[in-house]
Amino acid sequence: MSNLLVQIAKQRFENPSSQIVHFVDNKEANSILNDLENYPHAYVLACLMDRQIKAEKAWNIPYEIFSEYGAFEIDRLACIELGDLKVFFNKKKLHRFNDTMAEVFFFGIKDIKNKYNGDASKIWSGNPSSSAVVYRFLEFKGSGIKISTMAANILARQFRIPFSDFYSIDISPDVHIIRVMKRMGYVPSGATNEMIIYKARELNPEFPGIIDFSCWEIGRIWCKPNKPLCKECIVGKDCKKVL
Ligand code: SF4
Repeated sequence: MSNLLVQIAKQRFENPSSQIVHFVDNKEANSILNDLENYPHAYVLACLMDRQIKAEKAWNIPYEIFSEYGAFEIDRLACIELGDLKVFFNKKKLHRFNDTMAEVFFFGIKDIKNKYNGDASKIWSGNPSSSAVVYRFLEFKGSGIKISTMAANILARQFRIPFSDFYSIDISPDVHIIRVMKRMGYVPSGATNEMIIYKARELNPEFPGIIDFSCWEIGRIWCKPNKPLCKECIVGKDCKKVL
């Protein structure tokens, strides 16, 4: 099977369309999430929140907390008590799991302050290997392999942070990616997430997660759940159209 999906992903990687990554519609929140130089902790904390709720809602959480406490710097954030964070999470219904995610947020701040001397960009500075960055994200409370590879993938693919390799950046299967991989015939309809991850490794071992964004884009624009737009789809000629 020729590999149009990987070709498209490599083109996107080599010619990024925008310097600004769109995480949330709120412009101020989005610019803080994009400001890795001044607020790298906002990016890390947002990644940690991205579990089992809509991404837009999750990525907005750091900004909501920073604004509520007037605390955008890590030293000021570290002064917020866990109990206060829990109250605020619950009052504003920030997450589906408010107490748990308040703890993840709290310990995320503590780790950034204590392990990285308050500078979260040390997680990815100095041309690290992809495995080192994924591992550092895994060390945060509440961060599993999906969040950790997603965090490394966005840093590499969209923020263009230099890595010494991309081997450990896997695909992070979401509904769009799973649907596209199955319909294209790369994996059978009953495939597990692990099968999808390993298929992506087979397709592009040196950077499996490179197809993450292309699959997501195809899933959102053309490969819709009910009425896929196969005639217009950019991978139409390579797709087995398992519908
Ligand atoms: S060709 Fe059709 S089935 Fe295949 S990925 Fe595109 S929209 Fe989906």
